[in-house]
Amino acid sequence: MGKKQEVDDRFKKFGTVSFTSITKVNDFVSLLEQGKVMGTKCKDCGLFFFPPRADCYQCLSSNMEWFEVTGTGKLVTYSKLQYAPVGFEDDLPYAIAIVDYGNYKIFGRIADDVPDDEIKVGMEMKTIGHSLPNGQLNYVFQKA
Ligand SMILES: [Zn+2]
Repeated sequence: MGKKQEVDDRFKKFGTVSFTSITKVNDFVSLLEQGKVMGTKCKDCGLFFFPPRADCYQCLSSNMEWFEVTGTGKLVTYSKLQYAPVGFEDDLPYAIAIVDYGNYKIFGRIADDVPDDEIKVGMEMKTIGHSLPNGQLNYVFQKA
């Protein structure tokens, strides 16, 4: 057909610094652009994955479907960072956290506008799509 092979590098748009641009789950970024935070679920064994995976490590199936992260999870733990990895210095200070949704856990950042004194382990949080000042995309945890 003479059509040039296009490289699907949508993951370049993810995160303050993108470490990978070509993955088997690039729809994640397009869905995030629509405000949807999505993981994958193995249709064969029912395991949930976040971040999304294209292949199940439990049953080795590649029979996956997307699911949207909705509702709330519980804040398991968090840490306010005063030092950041290379490339993330301008984002300081920010809090990284793990939120437990039951079938899966999400590692991410707490939204900058959540006051420190309102962050409590065990609190309900929701996960929302977010645009960074440099135009990159990520997702953050917001108070439920
Ligand atoms: Zn599986």
